[in-house]
Amino acid sequence: MIVYFIGTGGSEGIPAHLCTCRTCEEARRLGFAQRKPSTLAVITKNNEAILIDVGTDIRDLLHVPLKAILLTHWHHDHIYGLYKLRWIAQETELYAPEGHADALILNDPKNLKPKTIKAGDVLKIDSLKITALKLNHEIETLGFLIEEDGKRFALLYDTKGIPPETMAILREKSPDVAVVDATYAPGVNDPYHNNVDEGAEVGSEIAEEVYLSHISHKNMPFLQLLAYVKKRYGSKVRVAYDGLIVNI
Ligand SMILES: [Zn+2]
Ligand SMILES: [Zn+2]
Ligand SMILES: [Zn+2]
Repeated sequence: MIVYFIGTGGSEGIPAHLCTCRTCEEARRLGFAQRKPSTLAVITKNNEAILIDVGTDIRDLLHVPLKAILLTHWHHDHIYGLYKLRWIAQETELYAPEGHADALILNDPKNLKPKTIKAGDVLKIDSLKITALKLNHEIETLGFLIEEDGKRFALLYDTKGIPPETMAILREKSPDVAVVDATYAPGVNDPYHNNVDEGAEVGSEIAEEVYLSHISHKNMPFLQLLAYVKKRYGSKVRVAYDGLIVNI
């Protein structure tokens, strides 16, 4: 499977409008340091696509039929793009947890077909087996373990740490690749999101290869973050960026 990072930012994206912090100023200079809110696609071995979260408009980036759309949770930075995408000219299933569902999308989903899922549920979509996992966030939030032909990919945002029952599953399955919440700079203690070290440490415990994502403008500027992560964690932990492709 191929994992396509369409958006790797937090709610505000980088640069945040009119923000003059070092992270946002750097992103105005360096296009690769810009981040759209969290949006990720998985392309199967049959070249089918599923989308996980829709933090941005995807039309110029992934203009193909979608086997399904999955939501980790209903915070707005993960659903902004749904307001437009619900006009998709083909009926498309939308799997999402129940918690705090968006009334506009549910009452007027246009061509989306919303279905509720919860932690422990298993979906079979094309060649993928997708297990929903419980995460620690402000509202009900699901991570996903995605398997295809013995390869395993874990998507773990938004979250602070990982609940023990999810850790048990991930330790047993030991994913090839994990994408982990690393919203904040080292040393920041937030109740709902990891900082860089929390994300890197939990990711390294369970996966061969770790990508830090859901990066806020309150995090370090991109080049500084790259240097910090490389020095501390070597090549096992990397910083995701918009447009990154990982072949698992
Ligand atoms: Zn978020
Ligand atoms: Zn900023
Ligand atoms: Zn959230």
